[in-house]
Amino acid sequence: MTDYDSDNIFAKILRGEIPSNRVYEDDETLAFMDIMPRADGHVLVIPKSPCRNVLDATPEQLAVVIATVQKMAKAVKAAFDADGVTIQQFNEAAGGQEVFHLHFHVLPRHEGISMRPPGQMGDFDLIAEHADRIRSAQVG
Ligand code: AMP
Repeated sequence: MTDYDSDNIFAKILRGEIPSNRVYEDDETLAFMDIMPRADGHVLVIPKSPCRNVLDATPEQLAVVIATVQKMAKAVKAAFDADGVTIQQFNEAAGGQEVFHLHFHVLPRHEGISMRPPGQMGDFDLIAEHADRIRSAQVG
């Protein structure tokens, strides 16, 4: 496994060098909208400290991230009145990972509705509207 590359796109988002639609943030983690949403309300959760994926993350990094994943799972379920929530996480290219900063996908799901295929750019205004809904849905 190669080392962490501090020029990956999520590191740039963390540094504010490229824009993102943030829906939740604390000292250790950040949640923001995926720009190619596979379902309405598709959120990504990342640690603020550097690691590539589950294979090099510390137990502490995993603990803080999964706590925020749970918060976001509840928030997207409420915001979209979803029937369920899919959580995905990929490790290294062979495992389906494309951005090499640890992240979890959180997707609200509805009975009988499949996820959209990957790689389709979402509508900017619609994603912003969905981000508002998620921010409003957060409790405690
Ligand atoms: P993966 O590494 O396979 O888990 O996928 C990376 C995810 O990051 C994909 O779902 C992309 O749509 C998403 N993504 C890539 N660039 C950005 C960006 N600038 N802002 C938000 N999401 C992004």
